[in-house]
This record gives sequence, structure tokens and C-alpha cells, in this order.
Amino acid sequence: NRPARWQRGFMHPTHVDVNPRGPSPDQQPIRVMQWNILAQALGEGKDGFLRCPLDALNWAERKYLILEEILTYQPDVLCLQEVDHYFDTFRPVLSSLGYQSSFCPKPWSPCLDVENNNGPDGCALFFRRDRFEPLATNHLRLSAMMLKTNQVAVVTTLRCRASGRRFCVAVTHLKARSGWESLRSAQGSSLLQSLCAITMEMAVQDASGAVADEDEAGVPLIVCGDFNAEPWEDVYRRFASSPLGLDSAYKHLSADGRSEPPYTSWKIRRSSGESRHTLDYIWYSSRRFCVNGVLELPNEEQIGPDRLPSYHYPSDHLSLVCDFSFSEPTQPHR
Ligand code: NDP
Ligand code: CA
Repeated sequence: NRPARWQRGFMHPTHVDVNPRGPSPDQQPIRVMQWNILAQALGEGKDGFLRCPLDALNWAERKYLILEEILTYQPDVLCLQEVDHYFDTFRPVLSSLGYQSSFCPKPWSPCLDVENNNGPDGCALFFRRDRFEPLATNHLRLSAMMLKTNQVAVVTTLRCRASGRRFCVAVTHLKARSGWESLRSAQGSSLLQSLCAITMEMAVQDASGAVADEDEAGVPLIVCGDFNAEPWEDVYRRFASSPLGLDSAYKHLSADGRSEPPYTSWKIRRSSGESRHTLDYIWYSSRRFCVNGVLELPNEEQIGPDRLPSYHYPSDHLSLVCDFSFSEPTQPHR
């Protein structure tokens, strides 16, 4: 008998980012979920989680915990990493629940080294087709110093069916492990460059020409990812200071609104022992969106002494969920 999981509440930021004009009445917030769901092949075959019972990693049950968590929060946009059950599970199940999606596998997924694997893992982006019309989708292979790397991103431009507003969403999973900080930084630059080009191109295609000032000429952007980087790494600094005007939504959870949460992943590995890191982020165009709500993270007691994953938490990463609304009032013909 498993005890019930803790409920996570939404925190509603008040100190910053509150739209002075208030959200326009036709605007339901856009709920975005970011989650590294732990590839099945890696969880069973490579990670070596010391305190997680093998039973808790059994796919036949673990998939329901993942789906349950997604359905609990009902995101409008869902960004997943380490998806190695896209075609047989997430696409069909989520499609029947009203989501359209796109999947980009890693070119040399480490899952393929695991016996009885289910194919490569990769990034997947889902959105509710009743709320959004897809305008374009790009699959990017991130480069570093002009060379292609093993990391990818999916970028989709969406148009809100109700308001006509456009925005871009990206999902990525940067290179893991310590010692690879400069590669992550280069991958971040590569992604930012592509995002600049895509958001500008989508704005040019916007026939109304109703763009804001020079700094923010592109369409608004949300970037979700497992960056495999703590906030003091170079790649974080690059995102925080890019010309795209991005800010990290989960800072709103902190008392001063400026600090990232203390962890988004917490595990105990056979090889390397206990590790607790902030690696996952939801970046957003800070002058174009306001953050209406942020899903709180479980505390140490709620996570439990065996850390993640567990019977309660199907991944070694925690999901992040934010509600966004557009900052400016809706303009006609956009
Ligand atoms: P990464 O280093 O980015 O890590 C891949 C995965 O391993 C991530 O999902 C990561 O999870 C997880 N991981 C991180 N740390 C550990 C750890 N200590 N123990 C177990 N898992 C961990 O991998 P790459 O994309 O660079 O791919 C590396 C693998 O891909 C190689 O092992 C090789 O098998 C294969 N490869 C093969 C090539 C070929 O030519 N055949 C070329 C390139 C790669 P998280 O993000 O959650 O930390
Ligand atoms: Ca992992």
C-alpha cells in the first residue's frame, strides 16, 4: 500500500511581472509544463539509482505515474526530455486527449546501448490543438564550435485560436555531466542563435507588422529544458543576458524573486552518490509575458529519504509548471 502523493500548490507571484493593465478578458493563461521524465532504458539500464526499488521503475506502472502527473496539471504546452516511448505511448495517449505533438530523437541516444531498448530518447513538444494552431516546427541539432553535437531541440510556433496571438515554444536537453560546461555553453549559444532567427522570421511573416520596440521585434518565446547546468554556469548567464530578453520563471518561487529553486533533480547513484541540483528551467520573454502562477516544488520531507525516482515520483527530475499570459492587450488582426 502506497501512501498518497503530496499535492503541490500554485504560487501566484505578486512582487513583479504583474501586468499593469491586467490580462485581457479573452486571455486564459497558457499553462506550460517542463519535465525530464527519465528515459526508460536509462533508468533501468544506466542510471544506477541506489535507493530506488527496481519495481518503481517498471514501465508498465511508471508510465501511468507520468501520465497522471501530466493530467493532474493539464498543461496547454508540454515539453518533455528523455522520451523513449513517444510512438508507443505518449503520442497515441496524449493525442486521444487532444494534444498534437512533435518528437526529435537524439542522433546517438545512449538508450541504444541498453539491451532491449525501445529506441532513441529525445525531446518532445505537445500542445493542445483546440487552443493552438501550429504555424511551423523546427527540429534543431545543436552545434558547438561549428560541429554538430548529440543534443537537439524542437521549436514550434503556435497561434492562439482565440486571440490570434503567436508565440514560439522550444524544448531542449543539453549535454550532461560535469566537465562539459563549455560544451553546454556553446550549445546554448547555438540554440539562442537559432531562436533569434526563428522568432524574427515568424514576426516578419506576421502580416500586421504590429511589432514592439527594437529589443523585442520577434514573436514572444518560451524555452523549456533540462539544461544540465546550475544557475552559475555560463550557459545560464547566456540565456539570462541574451538579446531575446528572457527571464527564468521559477525565480518567482523564491522570497526575493531572484533566486532559482534549490533543486529540480535529487538522486542517489551507485557510482557518484547523492546529488541535488537545479538543472531545469522555463525561460520566457519577460516583457511579453507575465507569470500568473508557478507550481511549488516538493520539499525534502515530501521527496523522502530515498530521493528520486521513487514509487511516488516517476522521474529523477521534478516537473515545472507555469501559467503565462501575454503582457500587452490583444491587438486586432494579429
Ligand atoms: P549525456 O552525457 O548528455 O548523457 C546522456 C544521458 O545520461 C542523459 O540523459 C543524462 O541524464 C544521463 N546521465 C547523466 N549523468 C549520468 C550518470 N552519472 N550515470 C548515468 N546516466 C547519466 O550523453 P550524450 O548525449 O553525450 O551521449 C553519450 C552516449 O551516447 C555515449 O555513452 C554513447 O553511448 C552514445 N554515443 C555514441 C556515439 C557513437 O558514435 N556511437 C556518439 C555519441 C554518443 P540527465 O540529463 O538527467 O543528467
Ligand atoms: Ca537522466
